[in-house]
Amino acid sequence: MVPSPASSGPSALDAGSASEVCPGCGAVLASLPDSAPTHPGASASCARLFEVTVRGLRDEAQADPSTAPLIRLADATYDAQHPVAADPGRLDAALDRLAEGLGTRPAVADAAPRVWRATIADAAADLDVIDLRVLVESWARVVQEDWRA
Ligand SMILES: [Zn+2]
Repeated sequence: MVPSPASSGPSALDAGSASEVCPGCGAVLASLPDSAPTHPGASASCARLFEVTVRGLRDEAQADPSTAPLIRLADATYDAQHPVAADPGRLDAALDRLAEGLGTRPAVADAAPRVWRATIADAAADLDVIDLRVLVESWARVVQEDWRA
């Protein structure tokens, strides 16, 4: 198991301006030069990492429609891990989609988990050795369990 970047906590400040902490999942990633946020509740670097990680699936879906549910699951998981306080309805919808993708009952959007056990950074780090489908499904399960904890 790779330790979650979120568990490193505020020590990320030591890394200086070269890295940023995602406000949603807590992943510490190198800052991007063009730091316009591309996903609500996420740092630009985190949003970019998510897009890069699932890009292969999105390409695959053009030829193989059976990939679509996995992409929906990945999107729901990412949304559920990057809630926006001003938009609780968006989080509820994400948790519903997450449960639908996993075939379970939705977690209740209460207090957001302080530490996530897995983020897209963990999934991306394991991409060389573990199939992306497996990574997305286990990441989705962990995020739902973290919401329940
Ligand atoms: Zn994030």
